Amino acid sequence: MSERPNNFGDMPTEDFRRFGYQIVDQLADYFDEMEKYPVLSQVEPDWLRSSLPASAPESGEDFGDILGDVDRLIMPAVTHWNHPNFHGLFSTSTSSVGVFGEMFAAAFDMKAMLWRTSPASTELEDVVLDWLRQMMGLPAHFEGIIYDTASVSTMHAIAAARERAGLDIREKGMSGRDDLPLMRVYASEHVHSSIDKGVITLGLGLRSLRKIECNERFEMIPAKLATAIDEDIAAGYLPICVIPTVGTTSTSSVDPIDEIADICEKYGVWLHVDTAYAGSTAIIPEMQPLFKGWERADSIVVNPHKWLFTPFDLSVLYCKNLNELKGAFSLVAEYLKTSDEQTVKNGMDYGIQLGRRFRALKLWFVIRYFGREGLIARLREHCRLARLFALWVEESENWELLAPVPFALVCFRACVSSPHIGKGMVNDEQLNILNEKIMNDINASGEAYLSPTKLNGKTALRLSVGSIRVEERHLIKVWKLLNERLSKEA
Ligand code: PLP
Repeated sequence: MSERPNNFGDMPTEDFRRFGYQIVDQLADYFDEMEKYPVLSQVEPDWLRSSLPASAPESGEDFGDILGDVDRLIMPAVTHWNHPNFHGLFSTSTSSVGVFGEMFAAAFDMKAMLWRTSPASTELEDVVLDWLRQMMGLPAHFEGIIYDTASVSTMHAIAAARERAGLDIREKGMSGRDDLPLMRVYASEHVHSSIDKGVITLGLGLRSLRKIECNERFEMIPAKLATAIDEDIAAGYLPICVIPTVGTTSTSSVDPIDEIADICEKYGVWLHVDTAYAGSTAIIPEMQPLFKGWERADSIVVNPHKWLFTPFDLSVLYCKNLNELKGAFSLVAEYLKTSDEQTVKNGMDYGIQLGRRFRALKLWFVIRYFGREGLIARLREHCRLARLFALWVEESENWELLAPVPFALVCFRACVSSPHIGKGMVNDEQLNILNEKIMNDINASGEAYLSPTKLNGKTALRLSVGSIRVEERHLIKVWKLLNERLSKEA
């Protein structure tokens, strides 16, 4: 251990090097031995808090001791999103090259606000987002910007739509004005809660969000949307934005973008496509039909941190005209003025953040390391595995599918036709309790993680396939666990 020179300065470089090698070894072991960990952390609430001192240390500690505490205290409280049997919510995982991207970004510690404070981040972001745009088959006029999450991307899109409505809200705000109509944002009843939060944040309020009915495949019904807009216009409201989803959170259903785009064009309403989860699959040629019409959108959100092996956080907002976003947010304080602002792109102009992380680097690493083909192959395999699992469900008398499987998410439940539960258990409420019990048992065991949703009053178990480490044997394991638990309940 090197002597700390005094109370100033950083860790000596030789220590940084030594601990750095040790950490990379530790992480390599972690990736190699992932399956020895329970998927869901097994600790009780407050276990970590009560294991840690209540206040910060007075003098600096040995980094070896700090690292030891990662094993002793942090690891038990980690839920392993990278685990191949993490099937809850959306299964998302990092790749190791993505971790390298984070290491460099943290070391450079650039704040990409102005081009000159971060030329590498600003320009790499443009280049890598244009690569991704091409891979996804979007037209060249789409320009992207990276935010942390889809929630934030969508909030920015709604803000730009609100600005386009011509009510001068950027300047005059909304409070104290009696000249404003009720503005409306439309989305399906299966839309992600980030849209609700977006309208809350932007002062539009939840009453501005009108949820449109879906068909039996959980897809927005365009005719219902058109009727809702007509009714609202007749009532003096102002439609400003429609948000269809390709890959909804509950079931991964696909709203018919092309038909919705017709309606948006007819009424002059901003079309924002939420494809936070499924957007990455647009790089697979045979998946393109699911995205038909998204090229007509004003904005699109896609999250490489969900299903493109890029560590959280990295969400991309593509805009047909990025200047509309700039119009809503650009504000250059005296201390941020530069002589080159007319000729370069300054990231701070496109949202509420001033400093922005160097996120493009990890996506650049991922795309270069795997290549378009490698990424397509992995996503295709995930879709294949999900379809295979869905087939097992369909062919079994014990289980039933509750939604179509367009991507790599299977919604299913133990059903009445099962000889294990047929006797006496006929209504949905009883089945809901049973399915939740099966899921909770599996989750508590640490063997796998599934999450639930409710579809037409029925509890569905959601199995998402998306980990970079997932193989067929992991799905066989879940299938076995489900059937064992079900027969135990009989
Ligand atoms: N939109 C959809 C369709 C989602 O499924 C999710 C999260 O699962 C989000 C938005 C929110 O994503 P984020 O956590 O990046 O805000």
